[in-house]
Amino acid sequence: MHELLNRSSATAYADLLDTATGMIASRFATVRQPFSGAGRTELQQLVDEVDLDGAGVGSEAAVRELDGVFLEHAVWFHDPAYVAHLNCPVALPAVAAESVLAAVNTSVDTYDQSTVGTLIERRLVEWTGSRIGFAQGDGVFTSGGTQSNLHAMLLAREWTLARQDAPRHEVLPRLHILATASSHFSVDKAALLLGLADDAVVTVPDDGEGRMDPVALAATLAAIRAAGRIPMAVVATAGTTDRGVIDPVAAIAAHCDAHDVWLHVDAAYGCGLLVSPTRRHLIEGVERARSVTVDFHKSFFQPVSSSAILVRDQADLAGGAWHADYLNPRENAEPNQVDKSLQTTRRFDALKLWTTIRALGADRIGELFDAVVDLAAIVHDEIAGDPELELVGRSQLSTVLFRATPAGTDAATHDALVAQVRRVLFDSGRALVAKTVIDGRPCLKFTLLNPESTLDDVRGVLALVKDAAATLPGIAPELGADLEDALVGTEATA
Ligand SMILES: *Cc1c(COP(=O)(O)O)cnc(C)c1O
Repeated sequence: MHELLNRSSATAYADLLDTATGMIASRFATVRQPFSGAGRTELQQLVDEVDLDGAGVGSEAAVRELDGVFLEHAVWFHDPAYVAHLNCPVALPAVAAESVLAAVNTSVDTYDQSTVGTLIERRLVEWTGSRIGFAQGDGVFTSGGTQSNLHAMLLAREWTLARQDAPRHEVLPRLHILATASSHFSVDKAALLLGLADDAVVTVPDDGEGRMDPVALAATLAAIRAAGRIPMAVVATAGTTDRGVIDPVAAIAAHCDAHDVWLHVDAAYGCGLLVSPTRRHLIEGVERARSVTVDFHKSFFQPVSSSAILVRDQADLAGGAWHADYLNPRENAEPNQVDKSLQTTRRFDALKLWTTIRALGADRIGELFDAVVDLAAIVHDEIAGDPELELVGRSQLSTVLFRATPAGTDAATHDALVAQVRRVLFDSGRALVAKTVIDGRPCLKFTLLNPESTLDDVRGVLALVKDAAATLPGIAPELGADLEDALVGTEATA
């Protein structure tokens, strides 16, 4: 019985992985829609029926069982009708690397646990920093943009506190983070976790399309100072999650410099621009940030997790450093990544990006990201020219915001249809789209992150949206929301 991966189970390991990869390969070859459409009651039953207290069934059987318990009802991001959230199909070499790093189980906390793994991660941090334009940059891989943003805000807090004369407990409640209403909610979460005041995050007005207005930023900075408060950080978003727009980083950086304020650029979504052969200019000025969030698992086609925080000045990372006698004592001269990380034991995610860059080349990754941005621009035009659809703003990246507007219906109906259309499509499993609220009104959202999707693929999803909208009741928005809750309720209790 081979239970653990070791010398004697090496052959069993290869066989077991063959089983797993064969199963996955056949799913990829046959999946025809992004979701089975199974209801939650059915899925709950499927999961509850599995015996977790009895004797084990053996590795082979347990892996085969996943086909029915998991793969049958998984959500497939590679399917062209999956256009909901910021999820991408994954680069093949990265998937292979994922199984390598899982098997070796390297932890990139201290050098003595990871050796060359640490050096590979460091090289990639350096590479990313040089793409940003940091001369003396540093950073570390993280679990995602949420952690990267939290880490950045921690460093900004420590950096700002160190520049005040007053004691920490007096300064803390006076600190503010400035961001637009379109910034990611993880910024607010970070403020809470870092013990800032409830009103710490101040909304900077935008240009009407979701981009930070630099003039309004200057006014907000001045107002905060005038009130005897302290701006701790400005968060510019390079690719907002909904609108896919990019704050004018260079202009924002100028105001941050003038006020001596930490500039953080959240490029969780827009980081693909760093390798884009045609759109790198869109994040000009990012090199003037003190910290940058990049999510390789969004626009570098990496399997979750793969993310990093980069800082312009290596010394700034010290704000989050801790030392333990057993692990990374202060006098230790080895390159311990744990000194720079919020995590201790940490996945060697860098190996996936490493393998991908080696396999495809950086330019090719950028071309793949360009492809989805190009496609989104065409889809914007397509929707703008369709009387049964209404485009809601234009993205600089790959989101598409719109509403269904069947002939003879009013705005209230269009609003109400948003949640209903999304649910009907989700329940059918044929297309997964997202919804959000822009300027107080609901709208549907596509996030195009599949470079192999064609215009016809997207037209197919638009046709499903229009069909669904044409057959739905079209009721008042409040009822629309209620109806959705009711549907969820029935599904859960039926
Ligand atoms: C997705 C996203 C995040 C959060 O990243 P996770 O990897 O999901 O934790 C942060 N900021 C922006 C702009 C994002 O789009």
